[in-house]
Amino acid sequence: MPREIGGDRFGRALRDLRVSVTDRCNFRCPYCMPKEEFGDGYRFVPAAGQLTDAETVRLAGLFADLGVRKLRITGGEPLLRRGLPALIAALAPLRARGIDDIALTTNGFLLERHAPALAGAGLDRVTVSLDSLDPHVFEHLNGLDRPLEPVLRGIDAALAAGLEPIKINVVVLRGVNDGGLLDLVERFRGTGIAVRFIEYMDVGNRNGWSADQVVPSRRIVETIDAVHPLEPAEPAYAGEVARRYRYADGAGEIGFISSVSEPFCGDCTRARLSVDGTLYTCLFAWKGVALLPLLRAGAGDAEIARAVRDTWERRDDRYSEDRKRVQAFIDGKRRGGDGRPAVAARAKVEMSEVEMAKVEMHRVGG
Ligand code: SAM
Ligand code: SF4
Ligand code: SF4
Repeated sequence: MPREIGGDRFGRALRDLRVSVTDRCNFRCPYCMPKEEFGDGYRFVPAAGQLTDAETVRLAGLFADLGVRKLRITGGEPLLRRGLPALIAALAPLRARGIDDIALTTNGFLLERHAPALAGAGLDRVTVSLDSLDPHVFEHLNGLDRPLEPVLRGIDAALAAGLEPIKINVVVLRGVNDGGLLDLVERFRGTGIAVRFIEYMDVGNRNGWSADQVVPSRRIVETIDAVHPLEPAEPAYAGEVARRYRYADGAGEIGFISSVSEPFCGDCTRARLSVDGTLYTCLFAWKGVALLPLLRAGAGDAEIARAVRDTWERRDDRYSEDRKRVQAFIDGKRRGGDGRPAVAARAKVEMSEVEMAKVEMHRVGG
């Protein structure tokens, strides 16, 4: 068995693998897959170019040997993958190789139907994306006027199936759903379900992101704290993405994923495997390492593990921290200062390269 990877160029271990099991989606959220861009003419990965279940399990096993402990199944919308419970069932035995958590991120629209089989197959827990409890805002934010009710029933079904702890992901867009955040807080406080507010990110190059659409997490903390006093909670584990807070009255927890205002690249232990078998070492990566050709050329485990190890050991991604440095430079200019030219000039080149060529999130997996 290959030994675990020591760390990347900044000493970050490889601990989490996000596996995108499809690049298709039944939603067209404007911040992720805007319908104008992902319409009829969009070329999704053809079936022959997608990792099979057996290939996915083989790669996930090699990643486990190299240090991965958590698997997150994502997409696109992972519940569109045919036979997903069978894939989960085939991944579950990787616990013997060190995997201690198998989670799924879903928009929840088909969850009611699938929750029992997923739980039966060995899935530990789900995270459901739900940006608003206002049916009109929800319909707007999924791009296709899909109704809200099936998602709420999906969450109930996940609870009933024991896919806990359940988390709710809320992407916050200024002027779109930021007026309804307290509704989400009220609905899930005291239920054991943790809501996590995510700053809108400049993922991909098709969502028309601009910094003024981002609501900084600290503003949301202040708004909630004024109604339900909050206390910071200690990170549950190294590399935890969300900053967590407890309700002072004991009604549970909420979290904030603040990759724009408070980047956390220093602790980032996540790799991503897209459905076409490409390994990416950053959500914002503009290039990856194609593992599928290796697999299909008959490479042995040692050769594939070496490709993964080499990729991770060369890794120096810290896109969100670079973005913040660039923003600080721009702000400094606006205030009449000269910012920090050496750092910002270098980061800016990286940013523009990324803007030109980075891949879409639905292929990388969220
Ligand atoms: N379709 C599934 C879902 O929506 O949960 C899984 C894939 S989705 C890409 C994974 C997560 O990324 C979701 O919680 C989604 O809200 C989040 N996401 C997508 N685009 C984003 C963006 N531009 N900024 C912040 N979060 C984003
Ligand atoms: Fe689909 Fe999830 Fe992206 Fe929305 S966030 S378009 S549900 S993949
Ligand atoms: Fe990790 Fe890249 Fe996100 Fe930084 S920007 S936290 S390196 S995925």
